[in-house]
Amino acid sequence: MLSIRLEKLRCEFGSTVAVDCVDLHIPAGSLYFMLGPSGCGKTTLLRMIAGFQEPTSGQIYFGDRNVTNTPPEKRNVGMVFQGYALWPHLSIFDNVAFGLQVRGVSAAEQVKRVGAALEMVRMGNLAQRKPNQLSGGQQQRVALARAIVFKPEVLLLDEPLSNLDAKLRLQLRGEIKRICAEINLTTVYVTHDQKEALSLADDLVVLRDGRIEQLGDPKQVYQHPRNAFVAEFMGETNLMGGTVKTSNANGCEIETAAGVLRSSCSKTVVGARVALSIRPESLTIVDGPSSIGGVCKSSLYLGEMSQHQIETPAGILKVLEIDPRQNTRVGQELWLHARPESVVVLAEK
Ligand code: ATP
Repeated sequence: MLSIRLEKLRCEFGSTVAVDCVDLHIPAGSLYFMLGPSGCGKTTLLRMIAGFQEPTSGQIYFGDRNVTNTPPEKRNVGMVFQGYALWPHLSIFDNVAFGLQVRGVSAAEQVKRVGAALEMVRMGNLAQRKPNQLSGGQQQRVALARAIVFKPEVLLLDEPLSNLDAKLRLQLRGEIKRICAEINLTTVYVTHDQKEALSLADDLVVLRDGRIEQLGDPKQVYQHPRNAFVAEFMGETNLMGGTVKTSNANGCEIETAAGVLRSSCSKTVVGARVALSIRPESLTIVDGPSSIGGVCKSSLYLGEMSQHQIETPAGILKVLEIDPRQNTRVGQELWLHARPESVVVLAEK
């Protein structure tokens, strides 16, 4: 198992800076996600790690080995792309064996290793089929088997589930997690789908315009976004401004247009203007007067949850009620409460 270290990595395409001085440490054996909107530089970063794209400047280390100028075939990296890129005229067995043939692995060893890789992705019984006789999900499993069959030290996945329908994506998410844990590889996974990252990642980095916005484990980044960009990119949120009224080691009180809210954030300065993020599921409808009063503008019952839009002096707030028991009606006046730990003071505006 190898760690990956990127030092001041930069990549320019003419006047476009695709990756801008990225410093990153990807721990050995982790399932690490690179996340961000289209054009933020995810694929370029992955291609530089694989060796397909030369950096303009900066260094790439696999463990202690500087691989910045090492050609892709000498990096021992397996890669899975969005499209499966299987050879249509070759059987599944031959598709997976191809990388071993190129490396001069004996026929007997090929049979053993391809068999094991196909078993790993639960495709052992379909080895003689051609790619066009497989579903999209099955083809993606084969692409995964092909990437792990030569025992790479690093696995790179570029939006591997984006061509699949929602149900298959869910199924394969679990499979990828299992496979990565079983073979204990350092895996870098690129996606713009935050749910994929939240459900699979050991750690993740959120990128914007070629730069790191935030890194950490999924819970940390979702629950404590640093700024509005990360808060909104990682899921639905309510943003509002306010002024710090009181502040001590246990938290602070913030005066907002909707009233005074308590936050457990203890790093604020009295009198400072701050931006707040409150997730819709962190706002609860309560009986008695509480911190935020409002009027229900719309209410959508979805079975396991209801989505409400509540008009307040601080604007429309989104509220997600899990296991809804109350009958919330449009036009109803109600009160909202947010626990202090869910009222996040953003470090940057
Ligand atoms: P997506 O999610 O849409 O795949 P991404 O985050 O992977 O996007 P990149 O493909 O890394 O983004 O692109 C980052 C920036 O670099 C974009 O502005 C893109 O237009 C530009 N870019 C990427 N490859 C090239 C290239 N070969 N020549 C010129 N510009 C490029």
